Amino acid sequence: MDDADLAWIGLDSSKRPNPQQPHFVVQSSADFAQRHLESQDLQPVGQLMLQPAAESLSLPWLNTPEWMQVHRWRYAFPSRPWHEAFLSTGTPLPLVCCGDWCGGNLAEGAMLSGLAAADEINNKLHHLPLDNVNFLNVFV
Ligand SMILES: Cc1cc2nc3c(=O)[nH]c(=O)nc-3n(C[C@H](O)[C@H](O)[C@H](O)COP(=O)(O)OP(=O)(O)OC[C@H]3O[C@@H](n4cnc5c(N)ncnc54)[C@H](O)[C@@H]3O)c2cc1C
Repeated sequence: MDDADLAWIGLDSSKRPNPQQPHFVVQSSADFAQRHLESQDLQPVGQLMLQPAAESLSLPWLNTPEWMQVHRWRYAFPSRPWHEAFLSTGTPLPLVCCGDWCGGNLAEGAMLSGLAAADEINNKLHHLPLDNVNFLNVFV
């Protein structure tokens, strides 16, 4: 494995019960995951990811962690993503679709897609105000 097989490294300590102890989340590239998706034993696969992670962060001790858990993330990314922020049609009924499959893979992409879709719906409604509805109070 080389650095190209690592997609992302996050320092996750603050989300853990003991935030003093460093805790990393390491994600592989989709290609690497595909190659190892059916491996029976995931521990050596995790070890393959740790080595370049330790090297790229210049943290040799990361190569021998106290604890390691390896997960498959089988449906991590859409196989046929849409190239725009939302998908819209006017016929037979107005329909606006959004989600992480529209122009982005993760939560941020899903949120940006949702905002763009809301804007599009607003355009379709000609920016008509909803009487006596304050959107910010709807969920209170
Ligand atoms: C294990 C895991 C870890 C992740 N970690 C991260 C992370 O750390 N950072 C990050 O940015 N992203 C992460 N993601 C990705 C992130 O969760 C997604 O990109 C994001 O939730 C997509 O939002 P969405 O609104 O497009 O779809 P979803 O969140 O999947 O929402 C779709 C909704 O539609 C509902 N639904 C489906 N079909 C129907 C139907 N027929 N009728 C009515 N409702 C329906 C579902 O129940 C669901 O509530 C992770 C995903 C997983 C699975």
